[in-house]
Amino acid sequence: MKTIGYAAKSSDAHMVPYHFERRNLRDNDVSIEILYSGVCHSDLHTVNGDWGDQPYPLVPGHEIIGKVIEVGQQVQNYQVGDHVAVGCMVDSCQTCDQCENHEEQFCRNGMTPTYGAPDRVTGEITQGGYSKHIVAREEFVMRVPQSLDLAKTAPILCAGITTYTPLKKFGVKQGSRVGVIGLGGLGHMAVKLAVAMGADVTVLSRSDAKEQEAKNLGASGILVSTDKEAMESSANAFDVIIDTVPVKHDLNPYTPLLDIDGTLVIVGQIGPMEEPMTAPLVLGRRRVAGSLIGGIKETQEVLDFCAEHNIHPECKMIRADEVNDAFAHLEKGDIAHRFVIDMATLSVED
Ligand code: NAP
Ligand code: ZN
Repeated sequence: MKTIGYAAKSSDAHMVPYHFERRNLRDNDVSIEILYSGVCHSDLHTVNGDWGDQPYPLVPGHEIIGKVIEVGQQVQNYQVGDHVAVGCMVDSCQTCDQCENHEEQFCRNGMTPTYGAPDRVTGEITQGGYSKHIVAREEFVMRVPQSLDLAKTAPILCAGITTYTPLKKFGVKQGSRVGVIGLGGLGHMAVKLAVAMGADVTVLSRSDAKEQEAKNLGASGILVSTDKEAMESSANAFDVIIDTVPVKHDLNPYTPLLDIDGTLVIVGQIGPMEEPMTAPLVLGRRRVAGSLIGGIKETQEVLDFCAEHNIHPECKMIRADEVNDAFAHLEKGDIAHRFVIDMATLSVED
């Protein structure tokens, strides 16, 4: 199938219209017309080459909402016309202990990311959601609950699941005290989800510029991470901290903010960090952990959770030709929402 997307041709992160083909349907494949695609900071990291060389041209995008336009002969759960979602993965071995345990992101044989990796059958490079169409095997397609507004759902597929999983895993519940470092795409979903779980949420931000946004999302307040005094007077204030900062940074001002047995979960920076001080960890049995997206079953669960709690990500709709400007904002970290591409602004005839 002929389609069009926005692709980076090299690591300068500038994307241009790109015509390419989606594979013919396999028996277990679902063919999807993409309606909306979220713009994640991981797309920027990947295109930039922050995580290693990439097979350009590369079409990013792993927060995908669309409509089924065709199904393979053996597809059981989807029909033409269904509203569906695809997230950060499109395949895995389906047989190892992690896949069996619904943690495909940790597939022992390596999961197949939605873009930039060889397809398990043909070896052709997967291409992501900044495009009009995608073809994915049924096991990696999710259902969009009816009550969710399709135009405000895409960010749940990455920002949502990436924060939902560690909030659950590290025991956030009614009355938990949660800190969220960095109020961007992931951070704003962490706030909404933790508030819905009954937590008291504080945003830790580089300045107080996003205070009103934080409160609108349900946070009880903002703690300015560059204000040394305010930070020091918040010792022991949190049970769980979710750290979404996308670059190398210093955790040492943050670990003492955890209470005894508290956990700081890194979901942002993958790579070097400033040298950690072990005293706050040892003296308070505090933990620093990491977390990678979440499995397909849990991604469906967070979609359903958002429907049940009437949670919609804050989405700023953009045209496809505005995606480079969106990347510039992610680079600065000056927004407290998600950019979402309206795919109706891109046509195969373009
Ligand atoms: P984003 O929208 O750009 O938000 C990041 C936030 O971090 C900014 O809004 C900013 O908040 C803060 N920040 C602190 N220092 C910064 C700096 N030097 N430059 C820019 N921002 C800075 O990004 P995102 O989409 O939420 O993604 C955040 C990170 O999570 C990225 O590294 C991304 O690759 C990663 N990620 C990981 C997973 C996973 O599975 N672990 C999944 C998706 C994304 P303040 O202004 O409030 O300080
Ligand atoms: Zn992402």
